[in-house]
Amino acid sequence: MNYFSTRGAGPVRLDEALRSGIAVDGGLFLPERLPAFSIADFDSVESIPEVATVLLRPFFAGSALAGDIEEILAETFSFEIPTTELPVDGKKLSMLELYHGPTAAFKDVGAGFLAACLSRLEGDVDAPLIILVATSGDTGGAVAAAFDKRPGMRVVVLFPDGRVSARQEHQLCCWSDNVLSLKVRGAFDDCQALVKAAMADKSLSAMHRFSSANSINIGRLLPQSTYYAAASLRHYRRTGNKPGFIIPTGNLGNASACIVAREMGLPIGPVILATNANKTIADYFESLEWLPRASLQTLASAMDVGNPSNMERLRKLIGEADVLREQLGVASASDDEIKTAIRQDFAEFGFATCPHTATATHTWRQLDSGLKDQYDWILVATAHPAKFETIVEPLIGEPVLLPPEMEELLSRPSRSVSIEPELTALAAALEDVG
Ligand SMILES: *Cc1c(COP(=O)(O)O)cnc(C)c1O
Repeated sequence: MNYFSTRGAGPVRLDEALRSGIAVDGGLFLPERLPAFSIADFDSVESIPEVATVLLRPFFAGSALAGDIEEILAETFSFEIPTTELPVDGKKLSMLELYHGPTAAFKDVGAGFLAACLSRLEGDVDAPLIILVATSGDTGGAVAAAFDKRPGMRVVVLFPDGRVSARQEHQLCCWSDNVLSLKVRGAFDDCQALVKAAMADKSLSAMHRFSSANSINIGRLLPQSTYYAAASLRHYRRTGNKPGFIIPTGNLGNASACIVAREMGLPIGPVILATNANKTIADYFESLEWLPRASLQTLASAMDVGNPSNMERLRKLIGEADVLREQLGVASASDDEIKTAIRQDFAEFGFATCPHTATATHTWRQLDSGLKDQYDWILVATAHPAKFETIVEPLIGEPVLLPPEMEELLSRPSRSVSIEPELTALAAALEDVG
């Protein structure tokens, strides 16, 4: 299978696309064509790793990793991704729980897959590969967890001092010796600029082997498509209906994976993007003009994106706004609506949702009754509410129980190094990384 950039560069093999993340022309990688599947192709498989093996095999054609697919997927899906039915009278409603991984958010899936692939392709104990990752909260923890203790691999996480929650900070700083956590005296943008500057710096690149784990890597899209495939097949076999999905969306990474799964022939009905107050996508569908902008801060902070970079992939794959809006729904939730949804979820479902997941439950409640009744809906839960306890607990009036994985992480010692937002400071910190 060959991969091309959305802007034309290529072809490259999967290994090169995984290694470089972004194409030389600045575009995003896509396979030259999506393989087509029929439901019968999955007749003998049920679990997510089994479904994933069938679905992803064509993408590995020609890759040095082709013989390792099963092992890679077993490592990626070392935790459960259940679909649970929600207790709502007369409605077929369920929730796809993507938050049972080591850092309790869906990003554990993409990070785990990327780590399993890159450590096999690039792991080198004499000259380790250094993954540089700038994070505003969730991504850095997932990447650190995925590469933790992997021989021949190092991770350097850069996060903005004082701008992540206490629990998020702990999840960024509780790993073993191969993870260095840098608390940058600056904003997230400073962290991102430092990563870019380090990768572009000739003398640093001569001393270290760098890679980044950015959110547009094809190594996130591929494994994420498999949980939509497995969940839709399970639902279709049981009911004969193609479920609709409502997906909390910021940078469009997770939602693109669902759209790709539907394109490949999986039994998926309508797909609705649930955004927060950042309305770039909704405005695009309405005005047909793509107008990226600065992001607004909301309670669903991991979705505070004003320029969703995966839109470039969707436009290439599906078409421009006039086509996209025929195939996708979009809705937006204000902070007040997110708060109301968290309270209502707790009252109706009996458990709390995180502020991101609440954009999906809000969207479902707002669907017009025709659409709501015509389909069975699967709401996508992107993180555990215990990650956002300072928002959720006052709304529901009681503590959110910590899942055991999070409790274990939070009991570990935490360590980090503070640096100024300057390349010389990063370079000095890297001297100890090897
Ligand atoms: C990253 C993230 C999102 C947004 O996912 P995209 O792929 O950027 O659309 C939603 N919820 C949580 C909890 C996240 O960490």
